[in-house]
Amino acid sequence: MSDTRFSRRHLLQAGAATLGSLALPALAAEPADADVLILGAGISGLHAARMLQGAGMKVRVLEASGRVGGRCWTVRTAPGRPEMGALQIGPTYGRVRANVAELGVALKPEASGAGSQTNQSGMALYVNGQLMATKDWATSPANQLPENERKLLPTQLFLHYLTSVKSPLADLSDWLKPEFADFDKLSLRQFFTRQGASPEALRLLDLHLTARNLDEANTLDTMRKFFFYGWEARNGATHLVRDGMSTLTDAMAASLAQPVRLNSIVKRIEPGAKRVTVSCADGSRHSARACISTIPLPVFKDIDVAASVPALQREAWARIPYGQVVIVTLRVLKPFWEQDGLPPSLWSDGLVERAFFSKPESEPHGTLAVFINGQGAVKLQGLAPAAIGAMVVRDLARMRPASAGAVEAVHVHDWAAQPFQRGHLLSFAPGDIGKYAKLLTQPVGAMYFAGEHCAHLYAGLESACEAAENAVVRLLDDIDKA
Ligand SMILES: Cc1cc2nc3c(=O)[nH]c(=O)nc-3n(C[C@H](O)[C@H](O)[C@H](O)COP(=O)(O)OP(=O)(O)OC[C@H]3O[C@@H](n4cnc5c(N)ncnc54)[C@H](O)[C@@H]3O)c2cc1C
Repeated sequence: MSDTRFSRRHLLQAGAATLGSLALPALAAEPADADVLILGAGISGLHAARMLQGAGMKVRVLEASGRVGGRCWTVRTAPGRPEMGALQIGPTYGRVRANVAELGVALKPEASGAGSQTNQSGMALYVNGQLMATKDWATSPANQLPENERKLLPTQLFLHYLTSVKSPLADLSDWLKPEFADFDKLSLRQFFTRQGASPEALRLLDLHLTARNLDEANTLDTMRKFFFYGWEARNGATHLVRDGMSTLTDAMAASLAQPVRLNSIVKRIEPGAKRVTVSCADGSRHSARACISTIPLPVFKDIDVAASVPALQREAWARIPYGQVVIVTLRVLKPFWEQDGLPPSLWSDGLVERAFFSKPESEPHGTLAVFINGQGAVKLQGLAPAAIGAMVVRDLARMRPASAGAVEAVHVHDWAAQPFQRGHLLSFAPGDIGKYAKLLTQPVGAMYFAGEHCAHLYAGLESACEAAENAVVRLLDDIDKA
């Protein structure tokens, strides 16, 4: 029989006001049981928990690490309080912005132009052994691109080739349609080669990817993300959380009636049709009528799911690759750019792939956020953070002698080395979309799936919340029908 307290209708009737009323103080005593278990306290799990709580459910969130937020993490103890994960809140992030508004979290506009922490246009270049300003690129002997590509900055090659054919996508959800299967099968190397990219262009294009390399990058997945970014850019301004992204996820967690259970590493899930039991590494067992897993796939694939699951679905959990990224925070001790006369940020084909300057109030000369993606990050696997920090400082000094003695590494973070992420973001390989994408949201008994890897429309933080909402609605629908 349907239980109307927990129905989808109840949730929709409650509407935005329900989310607004969620800022409850944490209860002193935990209820013995929960209606729904949420696995993972990243933004996806927290958004799902808040929605279910708004629908009148008792929710227990099990989180493996010692903090909430997952890939939202402001390192408050490091100089400049750098972000290791999500930074930008796009203009169309309706669900993220609703949480921000309801919890009273302060935003600030993202600095535009060269002051933006992710803007690539105002950067110095270091390519083929030469440091230069972007204005000197077209005529530089280090520019080994053929005549038809010489005027394109290395930072422009990607969009140039990606948009060299009109995007076949007209809608955010088009990428899941079978008629785009041809692009699904193509790697970015094949696509860019077909569009006429030279070997030197391909070498530069292979740097700084979310995927590990051009061969592993799916053209349709890339097109769909850039279609989304283009749509975002036409729809308003991007914001940052004023006091750091963790302020948002901390506030979401604090609004839950049951505190998030930290250090609860899920090891085994028994998803029956009407009840799910979850066992954690600390010996605790939790039982509820349903659960939502938001655990990233590289971790989820090793969890014992005691149920009959179609072989292709298990294959999807095990096979879909995640990108890699190492983030090194450098504190600037002296404004070295005054010496070499170039912008403080750098785009390079060296070990330090990209270094983005920003100026937190607490740091008189600012900080550089070094992002080493893909193959560059793979090469650093297994090295100690201190060794990576030292290599980055040395490599920067090699490329920009003025920086010698003018920066120090203050924080190193490798997402692939984190036991509860093991990667940066899901990044479909060629052929994966048609084969696996829809299986990622397929419930197993009363276990539902969310997390950024389950989104069908958005990217980034909003995708994690979109996937949470889809899982919650499906779960409530199923309860309605039961
Ligand atoms: C470097 C970087 C920069 C980014 N920049 C942006 C940006 O500017 N804007 C944007 O919109 N997005 C950005 N993103 C993407 C955004 O951070 C993610 O899409 C989003 O945070 C993912 O949320 P999630 O809840 O799906 O996953 P996660 O945040 O990874 O949450 C999953 C949770 O599950 C937990 N977990 C794992 N294993 C277990 C287990 N066995 N038992 C229990 N719990 C477990 C983890 O500890 C984690 O807390 C960025 C991501 C990265 C890595």
